[in-house]
Amino acid sequence: MVESTPGTTIVELADGVFARLHEGLTNAGIIVGDDGVLVIDSLRVPSFARDLIADVKRLTPKPIRWVVDTHSHWDHAWGNEEFPDATIIGHDNARAEMLDVDLVEWWRERAATSGMPWSDEAKTVQVTPPSLTFDESMRLFLGNRELHLRWFGRAHTSGDIFIHLPEENLLFTGDVAQDGGVPFIQDGYVRDWVGTDGRLLELEPERFVSGHGPIGSFDALIDARDFIAMLAMGVQNAIVDGQDEATAGARVTEAMRERFGGWRGFERVEDSARYAYRQMKAAPDAKPSDLR
Ligand SMILES: [Zn+2]
Repeated sequence: MVESTPGTTIVELADGVFARLHEGLTNAGIIVGDDGVLVIDSLRVPSFARDLIADVKRLTPKPIRWVVDTHSHWDHAWGNEEFPDATIIGHDNARAEMLDVDLVEWWRERAATSGMPWSDEAKTVQVTPPSLTFDESMRLFLGNRELHLRWFGRAHTSGDIFIHLPEENLLFTGDVAQDGGVPFIQDGYVRDWVGTDGRLLELEPERFVSGHGPIGSFDALIDARDFIAMLAMGVQNAIVDGQDEATAGARVTEAMRERFGGWRGFERVEDSARYAYRQMKAAPDAKPSDLR
């Protein structure tokens, strides 16, 4: 076991490829290349990023040269300012979301008023968007190791990317898929998400590291897809059936309880279903912020 910040566990998935799991909080990835390190997600506030940097230093003296933001959300990307010498990489849409002042301030308000240990620090974060962005695909080579960065469509946000290591058959999924956990849906695009999950499954990774929760198997990735598909289909059918939002939310939740009731965050399903209902009734390009 590699020593790391209290509350975190570092797991070596392949030679030089690590998952840094943070119990109840946000995970990160660490990939050690020939002459530099790539970090996946910079975490919620600068002090969390500094802990992550300290843990990287326990693994290797090599400098952190790249940070990949799996998406724009504060708990994944608001440590970016602690990496001034690294190139911050993300999706075009993630950059746009991090430059959206209203969206950033909405997240800041939530983080700053949550009464959590990081609340005060969240007030002063200098949100630092990716400086290197792409649309559908980008390859990075750390020595002989290939990292394929992919975007398969909107899902948990408009700019979720996946880090695929084809040789090692590993995948970092950000918040699009968890092993046994309900993702935050009210910044998402529920209909698109089902298609994005379908393309994600085509990669057939042996294991995946999510932004939250444990390392998952390919079967857990299928479950994550099924969860979103069942939510989307259930809401769609409720609309066709003429149900109002409250009825749809309650019935979809009950229908999902048998298979998914034991998942982390299941108590959020009803609100998620009601958000999905509003989204499916709205214009296709309605912003999530208009639907909350
Ligand atoms: Zn997220």
